[in-house]
Amino acid sequence: MKEKYEDSYLYRLRHSAAHLMAQAVTELYPGAKLSIGPPIENGFYYDIDFPTPLKEEELESIEKRMKELSKLDQRIERTEVSRDQAKALILDATIPGMGEDVAEYKLQLLDAIPEGEAISFYNQQRTDREGVQHRFLDLCRGPHVDSTKEIKAFKLTSLAGAYWRGNVKNKQLTRIYGTAFETKEELDAYLEHIEEAKRRDHRILGRELGLFMFSPRVGTGLPLWLPKGAQLRMTMVEFMNNEQMRRGYQPVVTPHLGNIKLFEVSGHVYNYRDKMFPFMEDEEKETFILKPMNCPFHIEIYRSQLRSYRDLPVRLAEMGTVYRYEQSGEVTGILRARGFTQDDAHVFVRPDQLLEEFTAVVDLIQAVLKKLGLTEYRARVGIKDPASDKYIGDDENWRLATEAIQNACDAKGLEYEVSVGDAAFYGPKLDMIIKDALGRDWQMGTVQVDYNLPERFELEYIGEDSKPHRPVMIHRAPFGSLERMIGLLTEQYAGAFPFWLAPVQVAMLPIADRHNERAAEIAIELRDKYGFRVEVDDRRETLGKKIRENQLQKVPFMLILGDKDMENGTVGVRCREEGDLGPMSLESFVEKANR
Ligand SMILES: [Zn+2]
Ligand SMILES: [Zn+2]
Repeated sequence: MKEKYEDSYLYRLRHSAAHLMAQAVTELYPGAKLSIGPPIENGFYYDIDFPTPLKEEELESIEKRMKELSKLDQRIERTEVSRDQAKALILDATIPGMGEDVAEYKLQLLDAIPEGEAISFYNQQRTDREGVQHRFLDLCRGPHVDSTKEIKAFKLTSLAGAYWRGNVKNKQLTRIYGTAFETKEELDAYLEHIEEAKRRDHRILGRELGLFMFSPRVGTGLPLWLPKGAQLRMTMVEFMNNEQMRRGYQPVVTPHLGNIKLFEVSGHVYNYRDKMFPFMEDEEKETFILKPMNCPFHIEIYRSQLRSYRDLPVRLAEMGTVYRYEQSGEVTGILRARGFTQDDAHVFVRPDQLLEEFTAVVDLIQAVLKKLGLTEYRARVGIKDPASDKYIGDDENWRLATEAIQNACDAKGLEYEVSVGDAAFYGPKLDMIIKDALGRDWQMGTVQVDYNLPERFELEYIGEDSKPHRPVMIHRAPFGSLERMIGLLTEQYAGAFPFWLAPVQVAMLPIADRHNERAAEIAIELRDKYGFRVEVDDRRETLGKKIRENQLQKVPFMLILGDKDMENGTVGVRCREEGDLGPMSLESFVEKANR
């Protein structure tokens, strides 16, 4: 079995690096009060109460002192003490980092250690050339590495504010983040990875590429889609609509708000209240809510006519915009917004159709991910936890649905892991987890089997036996949401979207004014004849500048038009990936672009 991170040498090393940083800080900033400094997933941090605010630039000098302290080869030793001895140590002003003035947090931490539990300090100590003993003690459970000289590949990465004990009512401390590795090579690779992630950050690229923006006047988590972003959405919607139409889905459109009664029947008012925006009441005392989900609306459409067993499956699809009241601290760009659009559909099936339909949904998802160029993914089947009683519906249905999901995955060659307790309360589900170019996992599309809503809304179809039967519902959204998928794609491609997806596919660059007219003609031809999205850059700028800027905008192709081209009936083709391809006839270019 793989060693747990918490038991690893790396974990001890990072924890020790946090202590080493604390030692450096207490030397450089007398009066700084230490609180806690644990290792975390990718490094460590230490929360410190500084007498004057610390600036980002100062991290360098702390790092420098850490390097010196590391080289001194201080032994790191554990000592166990009684509670009284611990208190005396914390208040002993002759020890660096200790004493009444700076003891505030450590005393509270000591108090929090339960009676009967061992109280230990870790001591970083050395004897200098004059024979003087130096030590730095920190109240800590450990464990640590044996000597500070083992801490040689580290970096302080950033500063943040953090409330003492995570409580906003407490004082805000300074959190210094850092990371440490066993070797310099590993550290460098990690830092490179972080830089790359920053370079791909969809929030930054979204602004630079003119995809979307946020305005405080509009509100937290409510994106405004700019022309290029809106185009990107349209392209994705068109693609999804086509895929769905081919597969027997029918489009529907439903309103953004609805009467609360609908959501009382669905149960959302009771089960989903904390994710819903405040309710609205009109003069007639009717209450409306912004929809957090599309399902109840689609159900009303299903219910609007008598359905026979021959009509099923009924597949109702909508790019449905929903609103969820995410905590402002949890809103992250377009990855977690308060208003977003799901590529939603609800499929109503007979129980005997569940496997076939689920298999078709998995097939759709695979086709979508392939088209988007997302080839590395895995699936997770969320099943119920037999020990819990939060689930509704009878066991036999659960068993059949869980089996159908697993069989569908098997049939489509989709590898999956089973996650016990990860089912929704109303049925098992399938989640897609995509690995991006940086190896990060993104949970995207989901498919859920639902026995609950058909029950609550008393859905029916007339069976072959002429008697009413209850259908099963499948909720599914292969993208998850347009926003989240565009966020992922932006980072995956670092903004250089594949040709079919790029908001602007071709930029026409006339060299001088006398080439503008012909450039406009070519643009029209490419649009009308081939459906390309073309922009003519006829600004009075140098060609070099136009090329640079279109390159930064990550436009797949630039077509340069000068005197020679006018004479010969060619365009100078510049490809985003391959650079200058020289003059080509328009037909050859189109062939190249469509390849
Ligand atoms: Zn510690
Ligand atoms: Zn739904």
